[in-house]
Amino acid sequence: MGAGLGKVGIVGAGMVGATTAFTLALQQLCREIVLLDVDRKRALGHALDISHGLPFLAPVRVREGDYQDLGGSDLVVVAAGVPQRPGESRLDLAGRNAAVFADIIPRLEAVLGPEAVVLVLTNPVDVLTWLAAKFGRRPRGRILGSGTLLDTARLRWLLGRHCGVDTRNVHGYVLGEHGDSAVVVWSGVQVGGMLLADACPRCGRGCPPEIRDEITEEVRRAAGRIIEHKGATYYAVAVAACRIAQAVLGDQRSVLTVSCPLEGEYGIRGVSLSLPWVVGREGAVRSIQPALSPQEREELRRSAEILRAATEKVGAGAG
Ligand code: NAD
Repeated sequence: MGAGLGKVGIVGAGMVGATTAFTLALQQLCREIVLLDVDRKRALGHALDISHGLPFLAPVRVREGDYQDLGGSDLVVVAAGVPQRPGESRLDLAGRNAAVFADIIPRLEAVLGPEAVVLVLTNPVDVLTWLAAKFGRRPRGRILGSGTLLDTARLRWLLGRHCGVDTRNVHGYVLGEHGDSAVVVWSGVQVGGMLLADACPRCGRGCPPEIRDEITEEVRRAAGRIIEHKGATYYAVAVAACRIAQAVLGDQRSVLTVSCPLEGEYGIRGVSLSLPWVVGREGAVRSIQPALSPQEREELRRSAEILRAATEKVGAGAG
């Protein structure tokens, strides 16, 4: 895909925001990137650093800016706020980052056109997507969170490695919270187009059933492990964000697990969490509701309850 597809704003030019900008430039997904941060020097530094690589890439305009400069954006990625420290859960960040969003969302709404899509990356991403949708003025789906797209990628990578198969030939979804209650839909996982129930007996490696629990735990604990090792996660989330940007800017109608406020899907409402959605120019346009086993349905209901409690705690409940 060549450059020239649109303008992307990035609010929060820390590790995640700057890496997303860099990945957007590498993938040549847009013609202009505006980096906004309360630390304007940091945003300017990243804009210059990325710009100096452009002679080897494509003529993308990368610059630092304020809210006025975000006007005309097709997509705004919000990655502002505090990240987890070792031992913290994403939900521990809710209060601090809700305050950041109370500052950012009204300012964004004042400058963005009705067509713009807002993509939330800040954690806890489901709570903040709900908050942004509640205090923003966009129709449902035009504010979405990266949700479990990264968890889904982690599942595919872990399974690909376990099965000795190219991860691109492993398909499956992680639903619910981007966090400790994420739900792996094992009943729908396919390797090379076959459900595990058919693929595993033919593979003949004789994996014990506990392998699924181990992989589920690895998916849920992946970010915590990386944070213990190097203090932050930012490469994979940036690629996931760019995958969503590609679907939006190119109106690709890609099925991606993103977080949106639910309105009765699986009987859940009043909370934002991830399902597979068709993502295109208008954001998340249609949810897909795959068949779930009774256990997966129960795990999704539990995940929704955890998120509802966290959302109410920051004073942004449905009522
Ligand atoms: P960071 O500390 O490196 O960067 C955060 C940036 O936000 C800083 O530059 C800070 O100055 C800026 N900021 C704070 N308040 C602001 C405001 N009101 N307006 C504009 N800018 C503001 O943190 P990071 O590692 O880049 O992480 C950012 C967020 O992304 C965290 O909440 C983290 O948990 C989250 N994250 C999400 C995912 C995901 O899958 N969705 C993955 C990794 C990290």
